[in-house]
Amino acid sequence: MKLTVLADNNTFIDRYYCGEPAVCYFIEDGGQRILFDTGYSGLFLKNARKLGLDLNTVSTVVFSHGHNDHTGGFPHLLKIYRGNGLAVLAHPDAFEEKTESGEPIGSPLSAEQIREKCRLELSARPVKLTERLTFLGEVPSSNEFEKRSPIGKRRLDGRLEDDYVLDDTALVYQSREGLCLITGCSHSGICNIIEYAKSVCKDSRIRGVIGGFHLFEDDFRLAQTIAYFQKNRVAELYPCHCVSFAAKARIHQAIPVREVGVGMELTW
Ligand SMILES: [Zn+2]
Ligand SMILES: [Zn+2]
Repeated sequence: MKLTVLADNNTFIDRYYCGEPAVCYFIEDGGQRILFDTGYSGLFLKNARKLGLDLNTVSTVVFSHGHNDHTGGFPHLLKIYRGNGLAVLAHPDAFEEKTESGEPIGSPLSAEQIREKCRLELSARPVKLTERLTFLGEVPSSNEFEKRSPIGKRRLDGRLEDDYVLDDTALVYQSREGLCLITGCSHSGICNIIEYAKSVCKDSRIRGVIGGFHLFEDDFRLAQTIAYFQKNRVAELYPCHCVSFAAKARIHQAIPVREVGVGMELTW
């Protein structure tokens, strides 16, 4: 499996791609090309062109969750896409209206609008994308220190209610050396995600994790998360997007953290 970062908050010195606070990964596995999230704007299209990646060869777009730093670029992809029909996979809640202090923070396209142009599959259950790559669907809670807290509101049956972002999910790749997780924001909790991946894949060896962990403070939750990584002997850690410098620095004291940026290629 090869992953290329098309959008991330970070860029590398001497490599002239553009960054934005968002996620978009181009994934090649088992003869398939998959896009994991589509960034906040159309910036990932520019980066893909510069990297020589043809997005018309993408067969499936998978969304980690509905927030607009993960779905905002999708209308830009639909404008240029000339491929053989696009499949879209996400949790059933991903395209609901989401707001924060009255401002929209959800997907620019509704499920109905996506259905007009794509084959949309909404699943709260795991879905296999290739022989070794699986979409996890809704992530159950399995520990005390990653309690879900609401982020803004979501509209359900016409009413606004607290949004616990149940649509937040991840991909798991079953490498020969253990499981590799690819996350968006980990609103479900990075340890909850890893625990669920272990039970779905029936493998307890964790090789690596790339993506946002939604960790900002040097607090109890971070300490517990680091202890969990150590207990599970997670060897390759690529925290990015929504992980603060303070959190990365603290993790790095226990487990070496690798830097992520636009244009980075990772082979698992
Ligand atoms: Zn989010
Ligand atoms: Zn995000």
